Amino acid sequence: MDARVCEHAGPTLLLKAHRAAYKVRAFMEQVTIIGTGCAGLTAALYTARANLNPLVLTGTMPGGLLTTTSVVENFPGFPEGIDGYELMTRMQKQAERFGARVRFGTVEKVELGSKPLRLTVDGEQVETQALIIATGAGHRHLGLPSEEKLEKKGVTYCATCDGALPMFRNKPLVVVGGGDSACEEALYLTRFGSIVYLVHRRDQLRASKIMAERVLGNPKIKPVWDSVVTEVLDVAKDTVTGVRLKNVKTQAESVLDCAGVFVAIGHAPNTAIFQGQLDMDDNGYLITRQGTATRVPGVFAAGDCVDHVYRQAITAAGQGCAAAIDAERYLAALAR
Ligand code: NAP
Repeated sequence: MDARVCEHAGPTLLLKAHRAAYKVRAFMEQVTIIGTGCAGLTAALYTARANLNPLVLTGTMPGGLLTTTSVVENFPGFPEGIDGYELMTRMQKQAERFGARVRFGTVEKVELGSKPLRLTVDGEQVETQALIIATGAGHRHLGLPSEEKLEKKGVTYCATCDGALPMFRNKPLVVVGGGDSACEEALYLTRFGSIVYLVHRRDQLRASKIMAERVLGNPKIKPVWDSVVTEVLDVAKDTVTGVRLKNVKTQAESVLDCAGVFVAIGHAPNTAIFQGQLDMDDNGYLITRQGTATRVPGVFAAGDCVDHVYRQAITAAGQGCAAAIDAERYLAALAR
């Protein structure tokens, strides 16, 4: 999982009880789940209720990307909305109530050609009969050298995590992107910045109608259409002072002063450790068949590491449920 993104949320609360306790056990797990976002924790709930005593490994971002969101307004059952972190904490508690063992651990290596399946978790071996991959996705980067050099010096990928920092207070801020994430970031940042420029490469937002209307109706947000960031300034000063923009229609270049650049241009799946062992598409999304099965018997996948179409908390949760049921049926067939 992407270690670059928001480290503020998960470990402190989600793992308090377990941080010290984790030691990989010598015997074989029935089912191991990698990831504790919506897909992973729903899979944990279902496999726990099926008495499979799942081992659930958090990776570096316990609770997943939703812990970096402020209010989740479209998860059914919460008419007033719910804080993303709170939602994930509740999901974890619900899974633990039925016996899921959530442990802090990052999977470094998988050996899916063996039976049992083998994982290396923080240097230790885990053997498991079934595996549910719910590793989610990390923030996509612009790919500019200046962006990389100024990361954490004004360039960030999470407004909820970093927006309130003193360096951004009452300063002009830039959000890059045109989807729901960019809109959400821009709206959140209006609390802190003097003005929020929303830099988008087209002249129309990709975001849902309700989010687009909120953004375009907010006097503190100024859209900058048809524009891409070509450089984050100023590497020589070791801090963000602005962005160099190019208008993609006119090719005109300009500089926009700002104290922070919040990149919200989508996500990339966290699937590098499965390269060469599981089928994936050109963008690294895992390919499943017949529900959540991968090409390796006993290995199932769910959520943002598979789904590049829907990518919602509720669809990830649904896929986590399906993966749990598929894993349960696989284990039942093995036992017969
Ligand atoms: P997204 O919908 O894929 O949008 C990514 C945006 O970044 C697009 O506007 C895209 O431009 C732009 N972009 C991509 N690569 C770029 C590049 N290299 N340079 C400049 N711009 C670039 O991603 P998202 O906003 O993270 O949303 C992901 C999913 O999560 C969506 O399904 C969304 O509905 C969901 N989500 C929902 C909520 C909510 O309901 N509250 C909040 C956040 C996310 P183009 O438009 O030109 O392609």
